[in-house]
Amino acid sequence: MKTNEILSNGSRRTFLQLSAAATAAAAFRITTEASLAAEDRKVFHPGAVVIDANENPLGPCDAARKAIVDMAPQGGRYSYWLAEEFVKTFTEMEGLKQEYVRVFPGSSEPLHFSVLAFTSPAKSYVTADPGYEAGMKAAKISGARIVKTPLTKTYAHDIKAMLAAAPDAGLFYVCSPNNPTGTLTPHSEIEQLLAAKPKGSVVLVDEAYIHFSDGVSALDLVKADRDVIVLRTFSKIYGMAGIRCGMAIARPDLLAKLENFSGWSAMPITALAAATASLKHEHLVSERKKLNAEIRQKTLDWLGSHGYSFVPSESNCFMLDTKRPAKEVIDAMAARNVFIGRIWPVWPTYTRITVGTQQDMEAFQSAFDAVMKGSATTGYSAPSSSFRTRRSYPDGQSWPNVSS
Ligand code: PLP
Repeated sequence: MKTNEILSNGSRRTFLQLSAAATAAAAFRITTEASLAAEDRKVFHPGAVVIDANENPLGPCDAARKAIVDMAPQGGRYSYWLAEEFVKTFTEMEGLKQEYVRVFPGSSEPLHFSVLAFTSPAKSYVTADPGYEAGMKAAKISGARIVKTPLTKTYAHDIKAMLAAAPDAGLFYVCSPNNPTGTLTPHSEIEQLLAAKPKGSVVLVDEAYIHFSDGVSALDLVKADRDVIVLRTFSKIYGMAGIRCGMAIARPDLLAKLENFSGWSAMPITALAAATASLKHEHLVSERKKLNAEIRQKTLDWLGSHGYSFVPSESNCFMLDTKRPAKEVIDAMAARNVFIGRIWPVWPTYTRITVGTQQDMEAFQSAFDAVMKGSATTGYSAPSSSFRTRRSYPDGQSWPNVSS
């Protein structure tokens, strides 16, 4: 018997209303790194080392923190002009026109809206594998065919394979540096993609991690009015994942298509103030980039000298070869209060590691060595159950030698 045959008229109406509401809810469900990490995360115990979600343990710089505090008393007002001030600051720095930038509470929303706007059952979504999964979740909602292509031998997006696999493409997603591998796709390859892509399709370049790398941004292609949308976020090098600010940067006609989904909802004014202050901090990006690269290099050197393999990265994360189902290692590490992850099904014996503080990475190294050597004890005793529901990060963490 079909579902609707067992419903009375009244309950059928309710059922239809509920399923329409469920469809609408699904259409606006936005997948984020936080939600993906949370699927695997267990409860953190005090002192946990949390390097499983590409977060920045530094948090916002001092100027951004001050801007948040100074802005708080204005919290009763929408103060929409703060968005204009933020956009003005960014566009002046980058030599862009103001109408080419749209601010969002993070880049997850414009990522999601771009996929909804440019893909459909007739226009496929093309991405790398392993690659950041959020766009695939959005493509499921738009009903698009999802085309996944392996990375090249140098772990770049395989642009030729992406083009060959999807003559019906609506949107090509290029994440550079890539999440999870931290590897770059050269600017010249993105240009080739733009030159050869099917008419009407769009290239979405996700630059969430660009500041950690020496990669060349695709913003020049936006300025040249190409069919490209660039995403930026303040969640990574700027340490504002919990504050929420990001951008879509593109030709105004492309941005207008995103607005069909987002409307004109107001931004949190504390996020705008913090983001603007962060942009104005002259040395923030260079200092944090240098520090991340130093800690990453020390970690990779340690792994190499202990016989472990990994994919060299230009970002704040890298893929580590566990030479066994990675889930086993993630669970054994969690039992030692060190939270790593996630896993990409196409590389089941690898796990992603976020670069945390030097202290985090030293704790990671000793736990990983013990797990890989099959040490029987966990080396960690969980505190009493009253602590188990706490979801807090360890106190007092800071990266050394950073003034900002
Ligand atoms: N793009 C990539 C590649 C990411 O890894 C993330 C988060 O981790 C995002 C976009 C979205 O970040 P947010 O919504 O915090 O700006």
